[in-house]
Amino acid sequence: MCQRKCQFCLHLLEIVVGGGTAGSALATRLSQGLPRANILLIEAGPAAADDLRINVPGLRGSILGSSLDWNFTTVPQASLDGRSIDVNRGKVLGGSSAMNYLCYDRASAPEYEAWGELGNQGWGWKSMMNAMTKSENFTGTDKDRHGYTGPIRNYYNRVVFPVLGGWQAAVSKLGVNINDKSSLGGEPIGVMFQPTNIDPTKRTRSYSANSYLPLAGRNLVVKTNTQVTKVNLVKCSSSVYQATGVTLSDGQIITASKEVLVSAGSVQSPGLLELSGIGQPSLLKAAGVAPLVELAGVGENYQDHIRVSNTYQLKDGIDSFDNLIYDNTGANATGELEKWLNGERSLYEYTSAAYGFANWQQLNLGPQMQSLARSIFGSSANVIDSKKLQFLNNTHVPSIEYLYEANYVGAFGYTGGQFITLFSTVMHPFSRGSVHINPKDPQGKPIIDPKYMDNAYDRTALVEAAKFARRIANTEPIKSVWKAETEPGEAIQTDEEWAAFVKKAMGSFYHPVGTCAMLPRQDGGVVDAELRVYGTTNLRVVDNSIIPVILSAHIQTAAYGIAEVAAAKIITSA
Ligand SMILES: Cc1cc2nc3c(=O)[nH]c(=O)nc-3n(C[C@H](O)[C@H](O)[C@H](O)COP(=O)(O)OP(=O)(O)OC[C@H]3O[C@@H](n4cnc5c(N)ncnc54)[C@H](O)[C@@H]3O)c2cc1C
Repeated sequence: MCQRKCQFCLHLLEIVVGGGTAGSALATRLSQGLPRANILLIEAGPAAADDLRINVPGLRGSILGSSLDWNFTTVPQASLDGRSIDVNRGKVLGGSSAMNYLCYDRASAPEYEAWGELGNQGWGWKSMMNAMTKSENFTGTDKDRHGYTGPIRNYYNRVVFPVLGGWQAAVSKLGVNINDKSSLGGEPIGVMFQPTNIDPTKRTRSYSANSYLPLAGRNLVVKTNTQVTKVNLVKCSSSVYQATGVTLSDGQIITASKEVLVSAGSVQSPGLLELSGIGQPSLLKAAGVAPLVELAGVGENYQDHIRVSNTYQLKDGIDSFDNLIYDNTGANATGELEKWLNGERSLYEYTSAAYGFANWQQLNLGPQMQSLARSIFGSSANVIDSKKLQFLNNTHVPSIEYLYEANYVGAFGYTGGQFITLFSTVMHPFSRGSVHINPKDPQGKPIIDPKYMDNAYDRTALVEAAKFARRIANTEPIKSVWKAETEPGEAIQTDEEWAAFVKKAMGSFYHPVGTCAMLPRQDGGVVDAELRVYGTTNLRVVDNSIIPVILSAHIQTAAYGIAEVAAAKIITSA
């Protein structure tokens, strides 16, 4: 191993790049577990501890498009008639955990098991479940599996609009089981209410910046408003490099005597590797970066959840959250915000609560969807495709998620009134895209091409999922609460019409993963099971970009779990 003596540096042992969801959790745990080490956490965005748009649960979504958002966008997508899709990412201490919608859940056990089966020794359901529950601090009683002593507070929301009450009764009539037992314990199939990451004492969002970082020791220094432009590497042997530290956007060099840990998220971690000379040589050369480590998988395997909404205008007199979102200076909204500020029960505590995770068999589409996927991907040599085909045969693994919201979240704009929305989301789309630095502006916004719906399985899956959402809406007791379907609208009936609607209305559920996949190098991997970047001795990636196959869940719990696993590995090996 390449050894270097650090004579003039600050004797920083570990540098964590990116104070987001995983980065803040990782830095905290390292400071606790390595009390004699100096740890530096570098975050491009500011700290925003008192920002109500982050802290008030019902204001979720309000920092999208703001200065606390990186505001990325995809390249025009061929299957969406050239539409580009926003790629929002938190640019703030806490990262995307400051921006997300506070859905708190986990995928099915076989999906985490797949990480080990794909060649990553030590990873699996048990290790990830231990790690995810280590980060969790659940308040309440239910029959599910939780952690009770971790930093991230969560509970079942006490504000659930009455219109959501008919959720389980309606969906279970259509063949999806009620699951009140184990949706966070590795068996998510069914229809249920799930917790949300709110602190039950303060009613604030619980996220990595306000729940992990305050637990860190004095050996952790957090540097905000500071952007890293590259990881500095020196050659150890013909094909192995050592990370010596990082360069900041003002040219300053900070040295790490032990390790550099990249936690810049699925969109920016691959770019940081590329800017440092790790990736596809032709791409790096085009960007004027000297290629050091040839690694084909950097920035590839971009996977994301695709979703579409069915929206329904409620009958007069039935209440929703709409006027608190769309008339947020009105008397109702200001009164409710006042209550929240005074520590009283407030509608601004509202977050997502009603979920359903189904397999195609429950929608009577098992053989049809399996044979469609097999006809396209059956001969693929790609290990990610193969896993997704296996998941389609496993009735414990969800293929579609439903989310039932007491407000309008459609694609075409709010037109006034009270709404419910049924989100349909495809859990394992087969499209695999990419994110790379822009050769013309390497330090600027990356080129993101998710290749959304570039295959017939993904397109059909979203259409069939949305058709089933209409069936849910037309089942009692939900059927009685609404007076009009506004999106897609009753005029949409044939499969061709549904397909055209989905093309216009598809959105992302903000869950990109896979761009620094933890896989064997020959399978397109970027990091090994120790999360170490291939071709380096002491450079790791610790965030959701390492997830090899997209999960059937909202993925913040995975980010915390990955950070916990990584911290334990680093502490043990120190
Ligand atoms: C709008 C939205 C809604 C979501 N809703 C949910 C939800 O309800 N439930 C759920 O489970 N998941 C949700 N997610 C997904 C989940 O929040 C993310 O997958 C997860 O937070 C990602 O964690 P991460 O550590 O990989 O990246 P991030 O949390 O994004 O952290 C990356 C950090 O690195 C910083 N950074 C990047 N480049 C540099 C650089 N060069 N120098 C210094 N710092 C840098 C960034 O500013 C950021 O703070 C949502 C995501 C978004 C964007």
